[in-house]
Amino acid sequence: MPLYEFHCQQCGTHFELLRSFGQADSPAQCPGCASSETRRELSRVNAFSGGKSLTDSGHSCASCSGGSCSTCGH
Ligand SMILES: [Zn+2]
Repeated sequence: MPLYEFHCQQCGTHFELLRSFGQADSPAQCPGCASSETRRELSRVNAFSGGKSLTDSGHSCASCSGGSCSTCGH
């Protein structure tokens, strides 16, 4: 889930929330004053790198040419 930054218009608290894309624009409650007068700030949606990279997906490495490979074992 991406991390969103919010800013409370009531007390000025700046906070972050992890929420799904579907909830991105729904109101968030300020942890400081419980106001829902908060605004989402467009920010670095923290590089969503989670998960595995394509090169790690399982089979064959760069030096595989069929048969047995001493690098990846395939
Ligand atoms: Zn507040």
